[in-house]
Amino acid sequence: MRSSAADAPPPATASEIGDLPVEIVSDEEMALIEAALSAAAAASRPVLSSAAARRAVQLSSCAAYSAASGGDIEDSPPLPTPRRGSLLARFRDRRALAVTDITATEWCDKQQEFVLEHGKPEMTQAMKAGSERHAQLEQEVIERVEVTIRSAEESWAVKFMNFIVGANQLMLEGITREIPVIGVVEGSWMIGVIDELRMPPDGISVHPILVDTKTRYKPTVPSEAQKRNGRLQVMCYKYLWDNLISEKFPAENFFSYFDLDPGYLLSDDIKQYIRLLGLNAKTLEDVLKYFKVTCHTLPRSQEQLLLRYELQADNSLLEEYQFSYDARWLKDQFQEVLSFWQGAREPKFVSEEERWKCSFCKFANNCPINASTSRCC
Ligand code: SF4
Repeated sequence: MRSSAADAPPPATASEIGDLPVEIVSDEEMALIEAALSAAAAASRPVLSSAAARRAVQLSSCAAYSAASGGDIEDSPPLPTPRRGSLLARFRDRRALAVTDITATEWCDKQQEFVLEHGKPEMTQAMKAGSERHAQLEQEVIERVEVTIRSAEESWAVKFMNFIVGANQLMLEGITREIPVIGVVEGSWMIGVIDELRMPPDGISVHPILVDTKTRYKPTVPSEAQKRNGRLQVMCYKYLWDNLISEKFPAENFFSYFDLDPGYLLSDDIKQYIRLLGLNAKTLEDVLKYFKVTCHTLPRSQEQLLLRYELQADNSLLEEYQFSYDARWLKDQFQEVLSFWQGAREPKFVSEEERWKCSFCKFANNCPINASTSRCC
């Protein structure tokens, strides 16, 4: 989920619930995961084969997917190998960085390092409330079905299908929530789950608006540091969404980096799920081809992005904050954060102006910032 109890620091939020790394699913373990399925699909109406008069005719026809059967995996140069001993190599080997890794690092490098080394602190009541609110928002537009996952290949297949379902829901119904995105950012694989995409209400623009809802325990407006962190999060989603649409998906790197078998035969359970959506795929590679075709039929997102802040007590709106995408600023942020993950620099502490963050930090007692100053957090 994309939520956070915005009164609390990002690493301690529930925002990674939707970004589960696939490595947690072992071959032996029959893990049950939830796969997003639109209400329409759940009612046995093939989401991908109807509504010619609606906004995305090209998406809604299965014929649009016929080209998918002939596509080859693109050749692309291999990604750089993470530096030995770097946090990337130690904690994200064969895994993607999550957007929440980026935002947590932006909040405080040192805190992120503590989380990686010692684990996340327990969720507070405020965080749980934020997580529940997001589940509620999701249920307004998404019906979940359970699919048994046996392998990393099946986990990715379901992620790609969830993207296809979400994209179709966006184009046919004008809104979707919790849609997964993936891409390469500055040489590193990154995943995230977009909180909400909605089509503009004017009915003219075809570019969807990226929205992220934060919940707050107290009826106060967020600080600039919290807004900046929120801006970074939503800009990451825009970057990943737009990149999927405008760039070639590096399939060969994807399979090799995540150590996946493109020809892996999906279970009957998953094939049945895919058939329900009006598609026919037997392998992970088949699903990826549908995914790529879908990506290339979608519009880029709007330059204007939206953060919503709600009060947890009654879900009332505290603030709607619109801001512009800033590609240069985002690139600087990516480089700054990734240099930490790649081991090119030491972790930084929070700035003097943002020392207040330390009073929310569960690692404050062990943090060298407190040893190096008489000021107590
Ligand atoms: S105490 Fe402050 S500087 Fe240290 S890890 Fe926590 S937030 Fe960062």
